[in-house]
Amino acid sequence: MTVNVAMIDGSTSRLDDELLEALQTQFRGSVVSPADPGYEPEPRPSWNAMHADRPGLVARCSGTADVVDAVNFARANNLLTAVRGGGHSVAGLSSINDGMLIDLSGMRAVQVDPERRLAHVQGGAVLGDMDRETQAFGLAAPSGRVSDTGVAGLTLGGGLGWLNNKYGLACDDLVEAQVVGADGQVRTASADVNPDLFWAIRGGGGNFGIVTSFTFGLHPVGPIVAFVATFYPLEDAADLLRGWRDYALAAPDEVTAFAGMITFPAAPGMPEVIHDRPVIILAGLHSGDAEEGMAAMRPLREMGTSLFDMSQPMPYTMAQSGLDGLFPRNVLRSYWKSQYMDEFNDDAVSAVARLAQDRPAPMTMVNMFHIGGAVHAVGPEETAFAERSAPFMVSVDGNWTDPAQDADNVAWVRSSWDGLRKYGNGGVYLNFGGRSDEPMREGVDTAFGRNLRRLAEIKAKYDPKNFFQINNNIVP
Ligand SMILES: Cc1cc2nc3c(=O)[nH]c(=O)nc-3n(C[C@H](O)[C@H](O)[C@H](O)COP(=O)(O)OP(=O)(O)OC[C@H]3O[C@@H](n4cnc5c(N)ncnc54)[C@H](O)[C@@H]3O)c2cc1C
Repeated sequence: MTVNVAMIDGSTSRLDDELLEALQTQFRGSVVSPADPGYEPEPRPSWNAMHADRPGLVARCSGTADVVDAVNFARANNLLTAVRGGGHSVAGLSSINDGMLIDLSGMRAVQVDPERRLAHVQGGAVLGDMDRETQAFGLAAPSGRVSDTGVAGLTLGGGLGWLNNKYGLACDDLVEAQVVGADGQVRTASADVNPDLFWAIRGGGGNFGIVTSFTFGLHPVGPIVAFVATFYPLEDAADLLRGWRDYALAAPDEVTAFAGMITFPAAPGMPEVIHDRPVIILAGLHSGDAEEGMAAMRPLREMGTSLFDMSQPMPYTMAQSGLDGLFPRNVLRSYWKSQYMDEFNDDAVSAVARLAQDRPAPMTMVNMFHIGGAVHAVGPEETAFAERSAPFMVSVDGNWTDPAQDADNVAWVRSSWDGLRKYGNGGVYLNFGGRSDEPMREGVDTAFGRNLRRLAEIKAKYDPKNFFQINNNIVP
């Protein structure tokens, strides 16, 4: 049987049995094409239903050796190749049609060394895998806010979550990584070994190789932490956002505050008063003592007349998965756009509040992030992740389900983002970038700024032919 797979130059490669068998012989995972019974269902489909894919060949890796073989095979045959960690790319950067997919979803082991406070996390683990293991020792690494998001893509692109202000971005907490390069070589990246590669993967995305293992430093967190999520009517958003802003700017670094605006679904287990109701949720997590944390975040709960308040001390893992229900995999069609703000002045507050009330789809969100403390303590050139001073970020997250509404929703996000542009500092968060007909490089120049040149040089050293090109692409 012959398998047809898209090549980098746009043509199609016909891979015959003999060639595939040579790959399959040593492979401990599986290598499948559309004709194989094991091809469907995909173990970890793309999160964004707008980027559902159909690869011509899938290498489901069981470990680093499989990843090496898959990379060597793809390179030798000039195959267009995508890499999937958690599959949560909003832009569909782990989705591919006809080309080869190197899928790490079977590589999700996490091993914690409690004495040295380190976690070794395989490249296909999701945040929930990591939190489950680290919390067994009362430890945690900064990550994100939805437990099904991949550790890999989130960390390589930065990593904004509930521990940012105290412990930094996810990438700031990385102490070592094992990286399979475009040449099939396995390298260690750390402050001492291949420091240029280590610098580049802390923010520079999947451009430099496939990370098969991350080693993170861990911090004592929980197991019970103070978590605040207070639901208010969306009509009151302007006043509430002003209060939230002032609170966030003065709050201790233990608190990372967030404000989300959405029409809350009629979720079983949640009170009817917020069913199908446009709301603004003022939220925060305090990473220290739970009682102290509840006291420190009290103002977020008393900023107006709330509809519902689910704030309480809770297991850290529960807080980390509290938003999961809003983001089912392979259901929502999504297009997001973000921008950093050097200040969130009253004009910007009014514009964001107005925008939130104008959302075209109930699941579309307008979100405000407060970023400071440990994120700002790292210099803009210390890691590839360049944005180290803006205290706020706004993200316009278009989410809908009907394919017929793709164009309208994409257009709404674009025009909303343009409208907010005058309040932003020009920087975007690449992990929150959506893609419709944009080129792969969209936003890359502005996101990396003065770090782009050094990134391009490191790309030229480790991936001169741009083998890893389905990502926020840095051209060598
Ligand atoms: C519902 C939802 C919630 C989110 N919440 C947050 C949040 O709270 N904070 C935040 O910062 N971001 C968040 N994000 C954005 C998220 O960080 C990015 O989408 C990220 O790219 C997802 O990583 P992944 O491994 O799941 O993605 P994938 O789709 O698997 O990959 C994304 C990119 O990383 C590359 N890649 C994946 N694995 C590897 C690897 N092992 N080695 C090298 N390259 C690899 C891929 O090739 C691709 O270019 C969220 C996204 C969604 C959809």
